[in-house]
Amino acid sequence: AIPVIAIDGPSASGKGTVAARVAASLAWHYLDSGALYRLTALAALQRGLALDDEPALAALAAKLDVAFLEGMILLDGEDATETIRAEAIGEGASRVAVLPTVRTALLQRQRDFAHAPGLVADGRDMGSVVFPHAPLKIFLTASAEERANRRYKQLIAKGEKITLSQILQDIEQRDARDRARSVAPLQQLPDALLLDTTRLSIEQSVQFVLDHWRA
Ligand code: C5P
Repeated sequence: AIPVIAIDGPSASGKGTVAARVAASLAWHYLDSGALYRLTALAALQRGLALDDEPALAALAAKLDVAFLEGMILLDGEDATETIRAEAIGEGASRVAVLPTVRTALLQRQRDFAHAPGLVADGRDMGSVVFPHAPLKIFLTASAEERANRRYKQLIAKGEKITLSQILQDIEQRDARDRARSVAPLQQLPDALLLDTTRLSIEQSVQFVLDHWRA
């Protein structure tokens, strides 16, 4: 079997950055599973679909035309790398992600990323649903305040007009929705290692994962 490092955790925890760097350092493949939910939400909005129209969204997710090319993310052949990072798309993603048939439609697509020599996958249910046999599972988190701070800096740098307290509120709402949902709820699995990055740098967080992989 292809080795998989599953990194799950709440939004804005920095797990994407850490996962991508771990993958680069091992020369493994990388799956940003949240991007698939974000792309589904973006495609739905572009087509004027309601974000609770489950049959339409599941059909859309099943035939989503996406490509991940050297850090670029394409939807229907168009560059969507930046667009899907908008706060509104993250919101939309967390709404389509509660729909069981949307998750099923994206399941095999995610597993198809597992190629030699290995895969680092980040999301909410990498260790529980998508890669339950992953030999290393990490639950990567940080305090809500620290996550809000990190997201705030990113969004301000991109020129989004948003306040820190608004972001904190969004993050807490999104966490609550990701944890409370009946399908693939966000949780720390008994076989996952806890990595609290509140007081860690990106480099220290990457090192933690690499140390546990080599151990
Ligand atoms: O990680 P990211 O912020 O890009 O994820 C966007 C949303 O997609 C999350 O709030 C979550 O609801 C959903 N998601 C999910 N399962 C995953 C990855 C993301 O439900 N594996």
